[in-house]
Amino acid sequence: MLVIASGNTGKIREFAHLLACLPLQVRPQPEGMEVEETGSSFAANARLKAEAVARATGHWSLADDSGLAVAALGGGPGVHSARYAASDEARISRLLKELGEADRRRQEQGLPSDRRAAFVAALAVADPTGAIRLEVEGRCEGVILESPQGNGGFGYDPVFVVPSEGLSYAEMDNGLKGRVGHRGKAFAALEPRLRELLGGGWPLVH
Ligand code: IMP
Repeated sequence: MLVIASGNTGKIREFAHLLACLPLQVRPQPEGMEVEETGSSFAANARLKAEAVARATGHWSLADDSGLAVAALGGGPGVHSARYAASDEARISRLLKELGEADRRRQEQGLPSDRRAAFVAALAVADPTGAIRLEVEGRCEGVILESPQGNGGFGYDPVFVVPSEGLSYAEMDNGLKGRVGHRGKAFAALEPRLRELLGGGWPLVH
């Protein structure tokens, strides 16, 4: 059994797809459980969540802390991506407004527009005692659109375009986002190590 240390249905859907290749029972963290994200990095917050959920459930857990780092916003919203505003819609509006203002300031200084951004995902796996056993990070470079494009995904997906694909995250299916996206890349680094742990006698079902 592996508990996904998240209450975010978008993330859980993506992990269900990514983990389908492994002989594991997967379930989301207990309803209503909230772990305070007091870390100053994605990796620190992933560790906090994995540890807390493993301890609370007595199962192995996989946590993801992720977010969007926008170059012209000094790497923001970064670890504050979830807390940037109250809903996905409001988060996107605030991002587009702040980036628009940053663009205008650059224009006034004779500088070209800069809408570069990267999505980052830190993953941590904790054993049932809460000890962190695996950690990886994945990153996907992209550009922030001026208005949303596409209906799929969650969070900032409709405004994040991956130039090599010419598509926003919200226009990708789970398979494509799993190959090119930050979470998929982090998972690709995690998977062989997760298999090693499984091979090392990790009981498949507690
Ligand atoms: P946290 O990892 O729970 O702190 O939340 C990360 C926040 O970053 C989410 O609430 C989303 O707003 C955003 N985010 C993380 N991954 C993605 C993604 O794959 N697509 C869109 N937004 C994401």
